[in-house]
Amino acid sequence: MMTRIADVVIIGAGISGCSIAYHLAEKGVKNIVVIDKGYIASGSTGRCGAGVRMQWGTEMNCRLAKQSIEFYENANEILEYDRDVSFYQGGYLLLASTDKEMEQFEKNVELQNSLDIPSRIVSIEEAKEIVPHLNTDDIKGAAFCQKDGFLDPFLTTDAFYKAAKKRGVEFMTYTEVTGIKREGHKVTEVMTTKGNIRTNTVVNAAGGYSKNICDMVGIDLPVYSERHQILVTEPIEHVQGPMVMSFSKNIYCQQNPAKGTFIMGRGDDTEPRDLRITSSWEFLEEMAKTVTATLPPVGNLRVVRQWSGLYNMTPDKQPIYGLEEGLDNFYMAVGFSGHGFMFGPLTGIVISEMITKSEPTVDVSLLGIDRFEKGNLILEPSVV
Ligand SMILES: Cc1cc2nc3c(=O)[nH]c(=O)nc-3n(C[C@H](O)[C@H](O)[C@H](O)COP(=O)(O)OP(=O)(O)OC[C@H]3O[C@@H](n4cnc5c(N)ncnc54)[C@H](O)[C@@H]3O)c2cc1C
Repeated sequence: MMTRIADVVIIGAGISGCSIAYHLAEKGVKNIVVIDKGYIASGSTGRCGAGVRMQWGTEMNCRLAKQSIEFYENANEILEYDRDVSFYQGGYLLLASTDKEMEQFEKNVELQNSLDIPSRIVSIEEAKEIVPHLNTDDIKGAAFCQKDGFLDPFLTTDAFYKAAKKRGVEFMTYTEVTGIKREGHKVTEVMTTKGNIRTNTVVNAAGGYSKNICDMVGIDLPVYSERHQILVTEPIEHVQGPMVMSFSKNIYCQQNPAKGTFIMGRGDDTEPRDLRITSSWEFLEEMAKTVTATLPPVGNLRVVRQWSGLYNMTPDKQPIYGLEEGLDNFYMAVGFSGHGFMFGPLTGIVISEMITKSEPTVDVSLLGIDRFEKGNLILEPSVV
């Protein structure tokens, strides 16, 4: 097989890789190749809930999510998409089960409002008006933001993919990266199952497999991957506007307004840290119990399908953006934990700005890999 040449090689064609490719091409970068061992969105992106919310507890996350959501609001036009990314802004209703959680929500809403995020605290009665089938017996109140919602993850990634392709980006699917050659402070060549590519710049956007890619260049990435399971029910008439989420009850549940199906998931602290994406009976049972307690009528629906995907976890559950010290042309967009889909647009913007040495839209210097060594973790209180 011949060795070919590319200016930029992006590893991974999920929401991150496709958004980075589009934004780089939009900035005039030529000769970009995106490589994926599967098909477009075959990783976590095509397996996720695709929920997007501005209701975060750290300023950094609020800013990243707000800008991404504003992008998603106009994604069909910006990307000149011939289909529809299906952005439904039915809101997120975050439930507080304890006074402590309510206090945290009050702090979060204050921060969010200071950043022009239109969230608000709602009473138990109002929460019940917003979601009539919600069991309010053991909640103290809630927070709500109408601008939050969810998209179709396949169509959204397809929109970035097509826009990137139109701008000349080449996609190599069903092609696995098997090694990366490093010479001093630079990576110089990417080895794949379909030949080698000499290049000036490599981007690691490999999701759950990001550590394996870093191992290839000798970076000890402080992340691990963990299975998260999810399911979809049979369809019924549209009864639930917002995504209902509770950190203490450990649930998120949304109804697709067009299809009528409910999608729901929960985390599990006992999951082993590996790359398995199998499904378990225990998840089905625990999920059924949680949803029946929180949204009782939804517990009566039949489950059509369950599946799983990987969260790529960092110690502070925040992404890692940028270069490793001592390596000048190997960029990382990894460690998104449970929220890489909603940061997709911003990931593309910030990584493309780093590569083209442009003025940053959002300062993400605090999200560099060096924060772990320095102990500057950015702890986010609001994660499932
Ligand atoms: C059940 C579940 C629910 C979730 N819900 C949400 C949500 O509601 N909102 C939200 O924002 N996020 C959610 N997430 C998280 C979100 O899915 C991820 O953070 C996001 O999709 C990461 O995108 P990515 O492009 O970085 O990675 P991925 O989509 O995983 O893409 C990485 C790609 O790299 C490829 N790859 C890996 N290794 C190699 C190799 N050696 N050679 C070639 N290609 C390779 C893979 O095939 C894959 O396609 C959820 C995740 C799960 C599992």
